[in-house]
Amino acid sequence: MAIKADYHLHSSFSGDSHASMENMIQTAIKKGLTHLCFTEHHDIGFPYQEGQAEIFSLNPDAYLFDLIRYKEKYGEKIHLFYGVELGIQLSVKKEMLRFVHEHDFDFIIASTHICHGKDPYFDSYYENRTEKEAFEEYFLTTLENIKGFDYFDIYGHLDYIARYAKDRGFEYSYSQYSDIIDEILSLLIEKEKGIELNTGGYRTLLSQPNPTKDILKRYQELGGDRITIGSDAHKTEQVGDYFVEAASLLKELGYKYYCVYEKRIPEYKLLT
Ligand SMILES: [Zn+2]
Ligand SMILES: [Zn+2]
Repeated sequence: MAIKADYHLHSSFSGDSHASMENMIQTAIKKGLTHLCFTEHHDIGFPYQEGQAEIFSLNPDAYLFDLIRYKEKYGEKIHLFYGVELGIQLSVKKEMLRFVHEHDFDFIIASTHICHGKDPYFDSYYENRTEKEAFEEYFLTTLENIKGFDYFDIYGHLDYIARYAKDRGFEYSYSQYSDIIDEILSLLIEKEKGIELNTGGYRTLLSQPNPTKDILKRYQELGGDRITIGSDAHKTEQVGDYFVEAASLLKELGYKYYCVYEKRIPEYKLLT
């Protein structure tokens, strides 16, 4: 496999996964991966329904404790890293900063999961407005987040909202939102932040990674070269999912390298 590093996955330390960390590590080794970075969810200020458990609140110490044990056990077979996927909401910026400063992460993904208190996963997000308005809010929120928060390495699944577009009968393409998306990509490049190719999109009706091909192409055209690959696995068998497709897509678009991070410093790996 040309890509040997999965930099986006969720074990049972994320509230929406039941996958055992050890099983995921063993699967990664079997699939020939050399680098694995867990990126457990932490969404401060998540708008939970009444009575719902706060599942997107991470226990970073318990997570690190287990990871260190597995580093000792599997360290000769695979490099394991301590990452987090931080759901960005500027309304809790102070709390987010405190959290990232208190923990020594190798890698931080910033993600837009919630837009001004609303979740694009639910129908209510789209009520009383056009599809275009709903999507624009998603991308504008991402742009605001990048302007207002610096403490991350790459922006996660840049067009995450598109994962659910087809289910709702929406037609989505980069060209409809190219002005906002170009501004996002240019700002990331200026701030020396990267993006990811998240293969989770292949598992949905979108049948493409997030972000989609046109955005990956545009990022490169604008001079971007920091890209990580992540399966967004929430199940053991999804580790390293669609990496063959991801490698051939990146090569087709002219990418020569992908990135791994340790102690928040990128290292470029040749895409063979
Ligand atoms: Zn996410
Ligand atoms: Zn994720």
